[in-house]
Amino acid sequence: MIIEYLMCSLVYPLRNALMYKHALQMALKDPLTGVNNRVAMDSTLQREVELANRYGTPLSLSALDVDYFKRINDSDGHATGDCVLKAVAAAAVSSIRSTDIIFRFGGEEFIILLSNTAEEGAMCLAERIRQRIQAAKYICNEAMIAATASLGVACLGKGENVHSLFSRADQALYRAKSEGRNCVKLA
Ligand code: GH3
Ligand code: MG
Ligand code: MG
Repeated sequence: MIIEYLMCSLVYPLRNALMYKHALQMALKDPLTGVNNRVAMDSTLQREVELANRYGTPLSLSALDVDYFKRINDSDGHATGDCVLKAVAAAAVSSIRSTDIIFRFGGEEFIILLSNTAEEGAMCLAERIRQRIQAAKYICNEAMIAATASLGVACLGKGENVHSLFSRADQALYRAKSEGRNCVKLA
């Protein structure tokens, strides 16, 4: 009876609390790559921009898009595309600091948020990520695949809002694409 009582009053509530915590965490993660998902991005981005504006600290945002990803899917199949996507995300994660946050924004697009980081640091990091993605060996379903990515970097201006910061990073990414891909451009 004592054991049963302890199970009911301690173990089961603890198990439920752990399951609840796990469910909350999973709701904010992208299941394929394991990085934060878009739901997590929307709230984090808003908060980081507000903090940077309030305390006058620098904040930078990088938009990353895998180059010619459709070709990988078309020529090697969707499963191989998924595998490359996971490896690209891992290469980006391994390049950033623990205070930086990476999100999967859409299909093969990622957003990297760098708090307390100004232009020089953000450009340096974006270039490092680009080089790592290019250098990584993607061996998926016994095929060796090459992948590169383009990045656009924007640094928060005084009083700038999330929408404007995001859109400037996106424009810089568009420029990186139109100027040959596999490169980094600053907004
Ligand atoms: P660009 O260099 O201009 O970015 O060309 P792209 O081919 O990468 O761009 P586009 O937007 O035309 O293609 C993106 C492709 O990404 C299309 C879509 O099928 C694929 N994709 C999106 N999400 C996933 C996913 O989760 N897994 C796989 N395998 N493919 C995905
Ligand atoms: Mg894209
Ligand atoms: Mg792409």
